[in-house]
Amino acid sequence: MNPLEKMLESQPVIILDGALATELEKQGCDLNDDLWSAKVLAQEPEKIKQVHRNYFNAGADCAITASYQASMEGFLKKGYSLSEASNLIRKSVVLAAEARDEFWSGKDNRLDRSKPIIAGSAGPYGAYLADGSEYKGNYGVSKEELKNFHRPRVELLVEAGADILALETVPSLLEVQAFVEVLHEFPGKYAWISFSAKDGKHINEGTGIGECAAWLDSFEQVAAVGVNCTPLQYVSSLIKEIKPHTDKPVIVYPNSGEIYNAAENKWEGASLQENFNSQAKIWYEQGAQLIGGCCRTGPEEIKDLAAWGRKKE
Ligand SMILES: [Zn+2]
Repeated sequence: MNPLEKMLESQPVIILDGALATELEKQGCDLNDDLWSAKVLAQEPEKIKQVHRNYFNAGADCAITASYQASMEGFLKKGYSLSEASNLIRKSVVLAAEARDEFWSGKDNRLDRSKPIIAGSAGPYGAYLADGSEYKGNYGVSKEELKNFHRPRVELLVEAGADILALETVPSLLEVQAFVEVLHEFPGKYAWISFSAKDGKHINEGTGIGECAAWLDSFEQVAAVGVNCTPLQYVSSLIKEIKPHTDKPVIVYPNSGEIYNAAENKWEGASLQENFNSQAKIWYEQGAQLIGGCCRTGPEEIKDLAAWGRKKE
């Protein structure tokens, strides 16, 4: 059964987690690397598990695995063997599932909430390029190449037991079409599709997000459609663009509002973090059913969401 549908039968909104990388940096991890948080999978897996634990404690119903930048091609390029690379991708699911199971074994943790689910993160092809291409798209590669890029990781995430797949921060409709074709090779498995957007109407490559939502609407294995890793000030408008084109749950987990400078590998601009919670309530009223945070959001934001999102109406 579609795991999101199942959860939404008993609660009005699914609380996602927040940034993984930002929290790992707080624990002293150096993520200035092409593999980004995937590097920590190999070197400091316990820290990843700790971040998942923190988010479950904060109230997250879903952990997104540390496999965003963990592609087979990325690991191979860094000198990992085929079996090492496969093991690391599987491990991203195992760490999140262990953190979830440990959390769920505490009696008090089970009060008034659903058992959290694990979303296996699949970053876009642009994240593998590690040059900020996930915010631009137009990679100049064919649909077949995109399918070949996504297939092995999807297979490993599914095999390792992810409850759902998360195609995240995707800037391109062509890439989504490739991913959905790969998904069809795994009957009975579901994915949410989350775009990165450049304004209140368009995904980063320029296609209207309404058009993207309309294209996705007919696929049963697509469990939710929305945006992440996008400045929070665009989210309200993006929800309005998506809603008329699909009955699927809308998912939003934007950034804090700062802007990523790919050339210098850092975040710039004034933080709008204090607005996160009040904005999130507006997204919920507009009909978003999965809400969380992306870059620069943390357990505090998730705790705020859970404080109102978990209340029975
Ligand atoms: Zn992000």
